[in-house]
Amino acid sequence: MTAAEPYKGVAGVMKIPFNRPHLTGAESGYMATALSRGLLEGDGPFTKRASALLRRMLGASEALLTTSCSHALDMTGLLLDLRPGDEVIMPSFTFPSTANAYALRGAVPVFVDCRPDTLNIDERLVEEAITERTKAIVVVHYAGVACEMDAIGRLAERYGLVVVEDNAHGLGGSYRGRPLGSFGVLATQSFHATKNAHCGEGGALIVNDPELVAAAEIIREKGTNRTQYYRGEVDKYHWVDLGSSYLPSELLAAFLTAQLERFDDIQARRQEVWHAYHARLAEWAAETGVRRPAVPEGCLQPAHLYFLLLPEAEARRAFIAHLREQGIQATPHYRPLHSAPAGTRYGRTSGCPVTDLVADQVVRLPLYSGLSDEDVDAVVDAITSFAPSLV
Ligand SMILES: *Cc1c(COP(=O)(O)O)cnc(C)c1O
Repeated sequence: MTAAEPYKGVAGVMKIPFNRPHLTGAESGYMATALSRGLLEGDGPFTKRASALLRRMLGASEALLTTSCSHALDMTGLLLDLRPGDEVIMPSFTFPSTANAYALRGAVPVFVDCRPDTLNIDERLVEEAITERTKAIVVVHYAGVACEMDAIGRLAERYGLVVVEDNAHGLGGSYRGRPLGSFGVLATQSFHATKNAHCGEGGALIVNDPELVAAAEIIREKGTNRTQYYRGEVDKYHWVDLGSSYLPSELLAAFLTAQLERFDDIQARRQEVWHAYHARLAEWAAETGVRRPAVPEGCLQPAHLYFLLLPEAEARRAFIAHLREQGIQATPHYRPLHSAPAGTRYGRTSGCPVTDLVADQVVRLPLYSGLSDEDVDAVVDAITSFAPSLV
């Protein structure tokens, strides 16, 4: 591979961009192997290798590679067999894909507010959002810090609801010793270039209920039982249910295999950077009233994001501009879904005041394995020379 060109994000060339996708060095060799085999469609040897790695990481019944986390979420919408008017509870503070998956099936996303500390769905507000139309609770472990899965699991059991984890941030994180992605009947992973392990664009559907594996395979293969046919379990394949084409090419699976095999190395450096920010910004944060991420007891976070909460929108704007002047790209995050144009059209809510507040406060710092110690120094110095009270 050639030497890295400066990464040109939306903000142009930055000395320290928000993200630089990790490369292990093994990707091009694995992709060359896939090319030389001449088998480039999905479900070849690299797809099986990457799936096995994911199954082992999560203890899952099955891990089906997909073309994106959004597509894996769409598959959960099909698997839950939702009817128009059914309701799915989810946080407002998430990516639109979490809601699209269910709105596409005619179901109603019911947006619940987030906790002010972790920015995760507030488990204390879930019960009042449940109606007789509710079918599922979708959780998003923001920054890979777990939602309160004990409380959410108890509610799901009491009301007979399915739990789905949008675990796009959470690979490598855990809650009370159990990996994130292993709590839902279904969970989804993202391997987009901004995630810890990636293949440019990619994802996975994690199936934790063995009884759903066959149906998931059919949905992923255009609604056919072709996966069974390839295994020699049937002598021809048919259109048996609704589905689409959700499996990635072997080339992407080869890239992803290289990343997953070296996931511990990726995580080691990301954790160093995360902990350096956390320790070195503590004093400045206390003095300025800026909040750092909270990681409750029992949660191991996977260094997916390092965020700060500025006092309000104007302070955040000034903070981002201050860093940009020094060539450092910091970025806001989600706009609330409950008040977004499509959110008001397709969803319902009884209000999400905490989400409204934090959406204007969150700013994410550069966090990737390629950050040098000097880069971290530069980010910390730039931040600690900023005082929000002076705005
Ligand atoms: C990144 C992300 C997605 C979308 O992932 P893609 O792989 O880009 O489709 C969905 N949900 C959350 C919470 C994400 O962070």
